Amino acid sequence: MQLVCLDLEGVLAPEIWIEFSRRTGIPELSRTTRDEPDYDKLMRYRLTLLAQHKLGLPDIQKVIAAMGPMPGARDFLDDLRSRFQVIILSDTFYEFAMPLMRQLGMPTLFCHKLEANADGMLVNYHLRMAEQKREAVRRFKELNFKVIAAGDSYNDTAMLGEAHAGILFHPPENVIREFPQYPVSMNYAELDAEIRRASASL
Ligand SMILES: [Mg+2]
Repeated sequence: MQLVCLDLEGVLAPEIWIEFSRRTGIPELSRTTRDEPDYDKLMRYRLTLLAQHKLGLPDIQKVIAAMGPMPGARDFLDDLRSRFQVIILSDTFYEFAMPLMRQLGMPTLFCHKLEANADGMLVNYHLRMAEQKREAVRRFKELNFKVIAAGDSYNDTAMLGEAHAGILFHPPENVIREFPQYPVSMNYAELDAEIRRASASL
């Protein structure tokens, strides 16, 4: 029995913070795990910036609702889900992701949660657990699944390492250089081919 775990941002949907940064004109908000591998440091930085600019959850949700998934993502995912059980493992938050999940046909998503105050300002974030992508893959293996995982960035590499087969999707050059053990796919046709190849080898 095989299971496919996919990252969300950079694979099925745009980077939420980068798109938000572009639309609000706050360049500092475009920092991602590609630039800062320390996730807690990155999140504290983001929350501080949002508070400084008096931007709350409703502002962010408005942008995300209009963003939509990447072109072709829904078709790719629908086809993949007809052949495999698929779980999306993401370091985003349910409050951010739900408008995108609706447009992707409501696939299963494991991610984190935000905390807003009465004014809608974000005051904290809650990781369900540390290293949840890798831990999820580990637990799926304990349930006797063979796991194929794909992601685009640093925060996916532990998940790729834990999986029986790991695949990079449209990664930045530095990730390709640092993790040469994973095949690189640059579009959905290539990712689909790598998943089929991995599936045949497990
Ligand atoms: Mg990503």
